[in-house]
Amino acid sequence: MLLGTIWRIMDQANKADFELEYYEKYFGGEEKVKDIVENCPHCGSKFFFTHSCDYGNLVVKETATCTQCNYGQRKLISSLN
Ligand SMILES: [Zn+2]
Repeated sequence: MLLGTIWRIMDQANKADFELEYYEKYFGGEEKVKDIVENCPHCGSKFFFTHSCDYGNLVVKETATCTQCNYGQRKLISSLN
């Protein structure tokens, strides 16, 4: 997918809220990466995930919400290709 297409989608999804997913930010062993992806960095509780697929543009919008503290939400856009 062209990077320009992803940026256009991010504009539509309010790029102030959503971050483009990239895997270079994950480091360490399996347990460390699972912790970064699945758990709230503020309190350590499991995130509640919702996903919205945009098949036309081959992207998924993911929202991770902590229901145990006031961390709020982490919003990511991932490319499907
Ligand atoms: Zn939390």
